[in-house]
Amino acid sequence: MVMAGSAGGRSAPGYDVVIVGGAVHGASAAYHIAAHPGFSGRVLLVEKDPTFAFAASALSAASIRQQFSDPTNIAISLYGIDFLRSLGETLAVGDDRPSISLVEGGYLFLATEAGLPVITENHALQASLGADIALFSPDEIGERFPYLELDDIAAAGFGATGEGWFDGYGLMQALRKKAKALGVETLSAEVAEIRRDKDRATGVRLADGTMIEAGCVIVAAGTGTRDLLAPLGIPLPVAAKKRCIFTFSCRDRLPGFPMLIDPSGVYCRPEGELFLTGTAPPEDADGDAADFEVDWDLFEEVIWPVLATRVPAFEAIRPARAWAGHYDMNLFDHNAIIGRLPPYGNLLVANGFSGHGLQQAPAIGRGLAELAVDGNYRSLDLSPLGYERILEGRPMIEKNIV
Ligand SMILES: Cc1cc2nc3c(=O)[nH]c(=O)nc-3n(C[C@H](O)[C@H](O)[C@H](O)COP(=O)(O)OP(=O)(O)OC[C@H]3O[C@@H](n4cnc5c(N)ncnc54)[C@H](O)[C@@H]3O)c2cc1C
Repeated sequence: MVMAGSAGGRSAPGYDVVIVGGAVHGASAAYHIAAHPGFSGRVLLVEKDPTFAFAASALSAASIRQQFSDPTNIAISLYGIDFLRSLGETLAVGDDRPSISLVEGGYLFLATEAGLPVITENHALQASLGADIALFSPDEIGERFPYLELDDIAAAGFGATGEGWFDGYGLMQALRKKAKALGVETLSAEVAEIRRDKDRATGVRLADGTMIEAGCVIVAAGTGTRDLLAPLGIPLPVAAKKRCIFTFSCRDRLPGFPMLIDPSGVYCRPEGELFLTGTAPPEDADGDAADFEVDWDLFEEVIWPVLATRVPAFEAIRPARAWAGHYDMNLFDHNAIIGRLPPYGNLLVANGFSGHGLQQAPAIGRGLAELAVDGNYRSLDLSPLGYERILEGRPMIEKNIV
């Protein structure tokens, strides 16, 4: 890895890698670089809001699934679940073993007759790649989940293992803590500009004017990423979209309740003693996110009617806490944009996760570390998620977007 040369003016010491955005993706990249056996340089992780109050990583539904339709997304989540299972050892700092309360409760993707060919095809692919997914008939679904109403259902994919939910904030903090223990430096500051010289990124300028030189810049700034890259002539087709999460309690006990994905797009899973639910708003009400206000009408008019029909026990529920977060939505094809940003050979990005980025953080961080240190992907080829597909107008088709 080559360091940038020194420049005059008000400047901080140079780093081999500067990472913009210190939430789950910035932290994962930092950890994987610092842990890379071939790396012995300096890494700086810059975060503008150390409370993470508005970061998607802190506001997420924090669930992981293998039930994707694209082989790269499946491989990413297979690594993700392995990483989450062994995180206590991998990210331990001294005697402090982090815990993220992983529950492998499974996703249950319900399919109507119309969805049967797609779920059958997806299941065959998932199984061929080693994902532990069962394809259930309506009788099998009813036996395992007797509290569901299944009149319109033809089949379901169920993650027997390898799918579930966890403490997403805990994952981010465990990655940050381990990265720091491995020598990564952190800075609370806002990056105002990514500096460049011809086709190389040379560092960043902070909002207070400080210049920091870098051999490589990684931008993992969530919904702030697009505006940082636009001045470099890199238009990212990513917009912030508001997504609300509602929790509620239910009197009845519903043992083994999974992460239920209704054909309508409404999802629901246990959250401790409560349940947690959400869905995308109707398309005509899904403009660019401007605030973090909870849309209670969405719960009352869209979500609750679906849930009460699918799970009759949910006819009597008591709403509890709710919150809103912003997806970094890739408007081009709803998949992540990862890797080098041509023509800049040393400028990397992790963005556009469209609501499934938390579970992808381990594999994406590992991939970015390989690009930064080795110069190419070594363990898992993430090039299908590269920015080139956008330049070439080649969408990556993922049929299972929730
Ligand atoms: C409601 C909701 C539910 C979700 N559910 C799931 C789920 O079930 N499973 C799943 O896998 N994913 C889920 N996601 C998606 C997942 O949370 C995100 O994809 C992931 O957290 C993105 O992480 P990130 O680090 O890229 O961005 P963020 O977490 O948004 O972090 C970006 C960071 O960059 C910082 N930053 C921005 N600009 C600058 C700057 N100029 N200088 C310095 N710092 C800057 C910000 O302060 C922020 O801390 C959900 C998201 C939401 C909103």
